[in-house]
Parts: sequence; C-alpha cells; structure tokens
Amino acid sequence: MRPRLLDLLCCPACGSGLQAEAFEEKTGRIINGLLSCVCGQWFPIINSIPRLLLHNLRAQLVERHPEFYKDHASRLPEEVSLHNRDVIGTKVKTQVSFGYEWTIFSDYAVDNFSEFIRPLEGGFFEKKLGLDVGCGAGRHVKHATSLRAEVIGMDLSHAVDSAGRLNQDNPLAHFVQGDVVDLPFRRGAFDFIYSLGVLHHLPDPERGFRSLIPALKKEAPIFIWVYQRTKRKEWLEYARRMTTRMPLPVIKELAWSATVIDYGIVVNLYRLLQRAALVARWTPLRIKEYAKYDFAASYADWFDRLSAPTSHFYSQAELRAWFERAGLKNIETALVEDSWVWGKGKRP
Ligand SMILES: [Zn+2]
Repeated sequence: MRPRLLDLLCCPACGSGLQAEAFEEKTGRIINGLLSCVCGQWFPIINSIPRLLLHNLRAQLVERHPEFYKDHASRLPEEVSLHNRDVIGTKVKTQVSFGYEWTIFSDYAVDNFSEFIRPLEGGFFEKKLGLDVGCGAGRHVKHATSLRAEVIGMDLSHAVDSAGRLNQDNPLAHFVQGDVVDLPFRRGAFDFIYSLGVLHHLPDPERGFRSLIPALKKEAPIFIWVYQRTKRKEWLEYARRMTTRMPLPVIKELAWSATVIDYGIVVNLYRLLQRAALVARWTPLRIKEYAKYDFAASYADWFDRLSAPTSHFYSQAELRAWFERAGLKNIETALVEDSWVWGKGKRP
C-alpha cells in the first residue's frame, strides 16, 4: 500500500480516518501492516493490499492468509465484536465464488473496456483519480491507467490479489479489498467512479449504486454496465437455480461442457459459415461477439453465468430510474448489444 492511498481511505464502520502501522515495508510501500480506527476497528494490510472488510466477510482473510495472522499475532489487536448486523450468507458466497473465478480465470482476455468507455469524450481519463468497483482480476484498472488515470480497484473477493499481481509495477494502480455498501473511501474523493458488470450481482444492486455517490466529487460522473433483461438470461435463471448450489469445481466442469457446445460447436460453425448472407443476418449478436475471442474467454463467461450466487436484470428505463432516484444529473443510458445496459450520470 502506498502512503497516498491512506489519504483516500476511511473506516467502513464509522467513516473516520485511519492510522497506518507498518510491519514490513519495501520501497516506501507497506507490504504487511495494520490500519486502525478510533472506533476500535482495525484492518490488516496483507501483501500490500488493505483489507477493509467488516462482519463475517473477514473470515475469508484468516482462511486465505494464515501466515499473516501467525507471523504478526503479537502485534494484532484483539478482534472487536462487530456491531450487530449480520451479513447475509449470499454475500459471503459471492465473495468466495468471484474470488475463485478471478483466480482461476485471471488471464481472461476479453476487451470489453473499450466498448464500455466508448460513449465518453476523448481524453476523459487523463490525470483523473477514479474508483473501479468490483475490479476482479484488474484488467480494467490496467486499461484505465494506460489512459493515464490513477485508479483504485476495489473488490469484495480475493481476486484483488490477482489484480495486484497484474498491476504490480504500475504506479497509477492501487487495490483495496472492500465492500460496496460499507465503502471505505472518504466523501468526495473521486473524479469518476465506474463499475463494469458487477452491481447486478449484489443482493440489492440499487442500494450498492447509491452507496457510491457520496464518494464522488461534485460534478463528477459515475458510469456503469449492468445486465440487460433478455429472454435468454431469464431462461438461464432456471439452470442457475440448480448450478448455484453446486460446489465451485463442479460448476467449473459444467461450464466446460457448456463451452464445448456453445463455443466449440456453435461459434465455430458460425465462423465456418459466416460468409453466407443468411447466416450473417440470423446469427445472434453474442455468437458474433464470441467469434472474436478464444475458447478460454467463453469458458470463463460460462463459469460466471453458472456460478454467480445472485444476478439481476434491467431495462433501460429501470436503470435510468436508479440515476434519477439518486438525484444525479446529465443522465444518459444506452443498450449495448443484447447484453448490457449502460448508464451515466453526474453528482450535482
Ligand atoms: Zn471506525
């Protein structure tokens, strides 16, 4: 964690500023250490990433980083009992599922970021400070920083470890493990916030969206992609009622079989026949999209479809209503192919 990040963070429980203590430092960065708050909460910094989680979302940290808790046991404060608000099981399940996904599929190479930022004016990112909500394995942070923004990638899951590795020597990239609804950032910290394909996986997506607004500066935009409501996605929900209950390695096997049919047969058939005018006209957009990518990309998406514990779907009007109810201005929405709804608005 670079010292600069401390100016942007706050305690997700009470909103106060945090004190940092380094156990290990390297080239001015805290590799392992501790963030503490006047309210008694404390948060570990593990492998250079501050972990600002509350409630039972913390249990994963102890499981995944036992060496941190063992090596620094004498310096860690007692775990404070967390105020009495249960985090529902779905959220922990989401944390585990996406952590697994973005570790296994960390080399996922679909470039949907270019499409996502297409409606923005040229040079938008230059010298701005932004937040990537649900950064996964850090692909979009890499892209946004290449356009010269400084970006903080936040994810609920241990995917932040993959993201940190992908952006290791990138001075413009920072990562935080945190939760959208208990946002660990100071009010008015960011010049922009974006979230690409994430909010629809929250138990209450609109609540997650609303909790981001205070972290924007005045006049700063937020822009998001959420799942578009389509017949195809509604049908898939029937399969997901079963698959989301299965162990992750089993879902991975199923996703592989689905990819063999969907990509191995359908997409490849399209590739063979695409010169025929009728085929080109009647092939669904998603098949044409996947024809640009490899088997691995389709495999990762199938895993995502079958494993994500919760998914919600929206029409353009429903997404616009989020922005209106949040009191944002200059609202724009658009459908992107037959998969996404894009929305953007500014904090007044
Ligand atoms: Zn606090």
